Amino acid sequence: MQIKRLRLTGFKSFVDPADLAIAPGLTGVVGPNGCGKSNLLEALRWAMGENSAKSLRGAGMDDVIFAGTATRPSRDFAEVSILAEAAGDDEEIEVVRRIERGTGSAYRINGRDVRARDVGLLFADAATGAHSPALVSQGRIGAVIAAKPADRRTMLEEAAGISGLHVRRKDAEQR
Ligand code: ATP
Ligand code: MG
Repeated sequence: MQIKRLRLTGFKSFVDPADLAIAPGLTGVVGPNGCGKSNLLEALRWAMGENSAKSLRGAGMDDVIFAGTATRPSRDFAEVSILAEAAGDDEEIEVVRRIERGTGSAYRINGRDVRARDVGLLFADAATGAHSPALVSQGRIGAVIAAKPADRRTMLEEAAGISGLHVRRKDAEQR
């Protein structure tokens, strides 16, 4: 799957609609501290179904909505759209997640209301998805280096997609 465009409206610091075009090859995002680089990656993960507010550096999910500044009032909703193209297919697919303050979020695929589960399935292959090991958050490399060996093994198992095997083995041993 090739992600072609990320569109943010009212998401964190992106109060005005903003488009990030992602062409084939390498895309770099540069800017001073606090300009919103990490927010972009978080928007991508959020639209793919991330449900942990903490991993989006918030206390609750409403914290992804623009909270206002000294000169701009806060917003009541946030919306992120991912425009993608399936590999070997030139049909475009648009995934939208929208959250309204106090009421939670909803998803659409090509304009049709869908469940979070449908979005999860769409991004289920190993290279994409909110928990893809391809998405490395800030500080994560340092955390891997500083981790105790046992914790580091857990991280590697998660990246390899085999952590579920231990749960099933424990289960089998108890029978
Ligand atoms: P660095 O180079 O330090 O990693 P960065 O470019 O990754 O910086 P981000 O962490 O993406 O920056 O952006 C942080 C900015 O986003 C802060 O200024 C913060 O106030 C702002 N921000 C985060 N959440 C919200 C929100 N809900 N409403 C408004 N602004 C927000
Ligand atoms: Mg950052």
